[in-house]
Amino acid sequence: MIKATMAHTPRKRFGQNFLHDQGVIQRIVTAVNPQADQHLVEIGPGEAAITRLLVKECRHLDVIEIDRDLAPLVADTCGNPDNLTVHNADALKFDFCSLATSGKLRVVGNLPYNISTPLLFHLLEQADCVADLHVMLQKEVVERIAAPHGNKSYGRLSVAIQTRCRVQPLFTIGPGAFRPPPKIDSAVVRLVPDADKIAAIKDPVLFNRVLVSAFSMRRKTLRNALKKVADATTLESCGIDPSLRAEQIPVEAFVSLANCLATKTNTDTTENE
Ligand code: SAM
Repeated sequence: MIKATMAHTPRKRFGQNFLHDQGVIQRIVTAVNPQADQHLVEIGPGEAAITRLLVKECRHLDVIEIDRDLAPLVADTCGNPDNLTVHNADALKFDFCSLATSGKLRVVGNLPYNISTPLLFHLLEQADCVADLHVMLQKEVVERIAAPHGNKSYGRLSVAIQTRCRVQPLFTIGPGAFRPPPKIDSAVVRLVPDADKIAAIKDPVLFNRVLVSAFSMRRKTLRNALKKVADATTLESCGIDPSLRAEQIPVEAFVSLANCLATKTNTDTTENE
């Protein structure tokens, strides 16, 4: 590690908790299992703890780091390899597909906790360009992503991710692996975007509207929570019992409901023409 990096004071506003436990770093790299012909992208390399290992095992590694003090140090820390490109940029605004000129990307990141959910949605919008993601998140967020219906952690995030990806929680990491240690446990999850699942959602905007409404009042029945989207009769005609609550509805049923409502909306529009 070079001296300038050692002197870096972690910035809270960028969610900087740097990994220092070599066992954990190796475990993440083993889970990713990078191959010599693959193109990887790392979000938030920080002091290059994971970067240094990834770059040795792949064809090309692009890294996206928002901190303009850290970004210039990443390449030096890795020994300036030819297959590393550093982007001093905001991953939330980054066009990942612009990098996918010769095949899909494998995305890796110990994600800044303060932006992890919007970042996941930003990545999923570009899922066509992504082969898989290995991300470290708050353990509680990984539990929400993976939760089945009926579980207390099941919510909008579970449905939004499970309808687009295969979800595989991998392992948990305690605060001691980081500098400074966060107050919470972290976990690594593998997400594999599934083109068939994504294509099954006919109207993504309507689907999102259904999820937002259904889970914004999760203690209420769907009859009440979805009032602005569909009335009870329409819900019933789409095969949904309006007396149930959102947390009781399986992931696939949300897709069928939104698709059914999309068909009805289209029919209504056609009839009005
Ligand atoms: N990968 C390093 C590690 O495991 O030690 C650092 C992880 S630290 C939790 C998160 C990193 O993401 C920091 O380096 C931080 O500066 C960077 N970061 C925060 N917000 C970002 C953003 N919007 N775009 C790109 N990088 C960001």
